[in-house]
Amino acid sequence: MSELRWDPLRDNWVIMTLGKGRWPQDFIYPREVLTTKACPFCSGNESRTPPEIYAFRPGGSAPNQPGWSVRVIPNRFPALRIEGELESRAEGLYDCMNGIGAHEVIIETAEHGKTLADLTEEQITEVLKIYRGRMLDLRNDSRFRYLFICKNDGVGAASHIPHSHSQVIAVPVLPPLVETELRTSREHYERKQRCLLCDLIKQEQAAGTRVVSDDGNFIVYAPYAAQFPFGLMIAPVKHKHDFTQQSDQQLRLLAGTLRDTLRRIKAVLRDPPFSFTLHSVPPMHLRWGRQDEWARLPDQFHWHIELAPKLTRMTGFEWGSGFNINPTPPEEAAEFLRRADFSFD
Ligand SMILES: [Zn+2]
Ligand SMILES: [Zn+2]
Ligand SMILES: [Zn+2]
Repeated sequence: MSELRWDPLRDNWVIMTLGKGRWPQDFIYPREVLTTKACPFCSGNESRTPPEIYAFRPGGSAPNQPGWSVRVIPNRFPALRIEGELESRAEGLYDCMNGIGAHEVIIETAEHGKTLADLTEEQITEVLKIYRGRMLDLRNDSRFRYLFICKNDGVGAASHIPHSHSQVIAVPVLPPLVETELRTSREHYERKQRCLLCDLIKQEQAAGTRVVSDDGNFIVYAPYAAQFPFGLMIAPVKHKHDFTQQSDQQLRLLAGTLRDTLRRIKAVLRDPPFSFTLHSVPPMHLRWGRQDEWARLPDQFHWHIELAPKLTRMTGFEWGSGFNINPTPPEEAAEFLRRADFSFD
């Protein structure tokens, strides 16, 4: 049995398997353990990476030397490059832009075998502070229309270097998914004078069945129309449009929530590969003829993290139709994660 569920934020349908859904034991994807003889992200191998952009060095050691706990470097093989003017041109009905952007790597720990779930709350807080700092810095560049933070953990999640890291990617066009979320949030606000995600969070709190955790600061829930099995939304309970406005104290609370969530996933699904992405407001640069573009955005948009373990492969139907098939109803996924036994310290 299945049903189609509509996601008001993504404005899209998901096909949800009901009845006998797939449970944790049905997903057997053991984490591929890779060792690299000379991992470029390891402490002591700093010379194998481009010079660092920033590093958190608690002991005050010199740049590009050991002694760091989080380190930011340019991607050696960037998808987009920072140098040059943004030029756009038509090629018949096609459009072309030169590949301007930024592509940075945040190495989250100096220790090779650790994943984000293994780090302490303090270490994860430092990583989150670096997300905030890189976004604030890159936002000054008016060529960039969006700043992405994303993480792929584990080989199955398309990570090539088996050393825990995230990426910051600045792009010169608004990504379609973000554009959709901005539009659905704006339309909801125009109809109801309320934030869409605030409304969704209140509804999830009232229903309770899809909530994994809620400490009053950050809520974690499996969306009603989750695209992927065990796909989760993490958001501040109180309305906040911009991740970079979160205080140190709020980032510490978020680190606690993120760590708790990753450890639940690790326990229930036996350390699967996973990805997450941070959706915050775009840099609000004024554009010619569009002076009011961002006027209501702070009331309309609600920043959030979308997180999903990589448990399924995309089918031809999903690829061709844009509909996802989710074999684990979010109500069941949330219950497994709520009951997770992750006392494995
Ligand atoms: Zn390493
Ligand atoms: Zn809100
Ligand atoms: Zn989103």
